[in-house]
Amino acid sequence: MNRREFVALMGVLGLGGLTACGGEPDVSGSFDGDVLVIGAGAAGMSAAHFLERAGVNVTVLEAGPAHGGRIKTVRDFVDFPIPLGGEWLHTDATELDALVDRTDHGITMAAYKPTDETGYWSGGEYTLETEDPDSDLKFVGRTWLDVFDEFIVPSIADRMRFGVVVDTVDHSGDRIVVTAEDGSTYEADRLVVTVPIVALRDQMTFTPDLPEEMRTTLDEADVWGGFKAFVEFDEQFYPTTLVLDGKNTDDGQHIYYDASYGQDSDRKVLGMFSVGTGSEPYREAQAEGRLIELILADLDPIFDGRPSATYVQHIHQDWNAEPHIHMAYLADNADWQTPRRLSNPIDDRIFFAGSSYIKTIDGWSMVHLAARAGREAVDQILS
Ligand SMILES: Cc1cc2nc3c(=O)[nH]c(=O)nc-3n(C[C@H](O)[C@H](O)[C@H](O)COP(=O)(O)OP(=O)(O)OC[C@H]3O[C@@H](n4cnc5c(N)ncnc54)[C@H](O)[C@@H]3O)c2cc1C
Repeated sequence: MNRREFVALMGVLGLGGLTACGGEPDVSGSFDGDVLVIGAGAAGMSAAHFLERAGVNVTVLEAGPAHGGRIKTVRDFVDFPIPLGGEWLHTDATELDALVDRTDHGITMAAYKPTDETGYWSGGEYTLETEDPDSDLKFVGRTWLDVFDEFIVPSIADRMRFGVVVDTVDHSGDRIVVTAEDGSTYEADRLVVTVPIVALRDQMTFTPDLPEEMRTTLDEADVWGGFKAFVEFDEQFYPTTLVLDGKNTDDGQHIYYDASYGQDSDRKVLGMFSVGTGSEPYREAQAEGRLIELILADLDPIFDGRPSATYVQHIHQDWNAEPHIHMAYLADNADWQTPRRLSNPIDDRIFFAGSSYIKTIDGWSMVHLAARAGREAVDQILS
């Protein structure tokens, strides 16, 4: 069973968005030690926020120069923020209440409508169809990063340390000792690891080593690369979603979509989302300086040259080339047990949380699940 089948099954069983399981952390325990969190993405920020709220001394060590990880955002492309990684909320909007730790957040979401059109380009033929709308929700005037910036970051801003590239974790003694590439060391009683699984597998050393089952699961995990591009045009010749024949396979997903959908803006921005094998040609084209030529070559035959005639500007994000990330996410068709196995703590002192480390599993590779995993790690520390 893959990620999409798993999510669908959870929906059928009425178990999608298990907010109650990941809701308020149980703060009844008496833990009063120090906690280190490695990584300031959705999971790390969420864990730090709930630890801080419980009065625990927490420090977040982030390798990059800023927080966010795979919810990185560009603000100066057009007049609304552009999400370079996680973009949609893939569950019920009520999940946001638990995520931002309040109900009066006022976050506006745009839902897709039955009248929205999907374009299919196959064998030189272009057809437009209306279908049951996708249940995914799009943030209006915000990105996932803005949600964290508004509701989570204020409580933990002074707890985050940037440019700290952790490379060793020594948990052989009473205290856990974490050492960074620059030789700096940090000690704590508990550790929450939230780095992407490629970083955990290839870049961090543990003493004693990670448990054998975890090493095997990491080695066998099927990871997808990923690429996004956003292209501004002078006119909207494209539908809400555009699917090109042969580009969507079991080994990856590729769509063009209206990135301005639901925004309070007249700017016309087409998004390209590509993960897995389908993203490779775009990554190569970008490296060779011909990305926009490749994208326009996809679009011009469908729309009679309007794309080239109305092109304004574009930006891109190659997640494989992103320092400290090196991947998009755990593949949709990965073994569904992978995230659960990777979430097993070590000696009830080292916890793993993130979009590939999920204890209460109803999917993987999604922002809300990463944040929920962060909350669940806190739950375990405090219990
Ligand atoms: C192209 C793309 C599109 C996506 N679309 C969606 C979507 O629409 N909806 C959705 O819900 N999800 C989407 N996702 C998935 C979602 O973005 C991620 O699952 C989620 O943001 C991951 O959060 P995380 O905290 O687990 O990991 P990350 O965000 O990767 O955070 C981990 C952090 O650890 C840091 N780090 C790494 N190594 C070290 C080290 N050695 N020392 C210290 N720090 C380190 C990294 O710099 C990073 O900041 C998408 C992802 C991609 C790439």
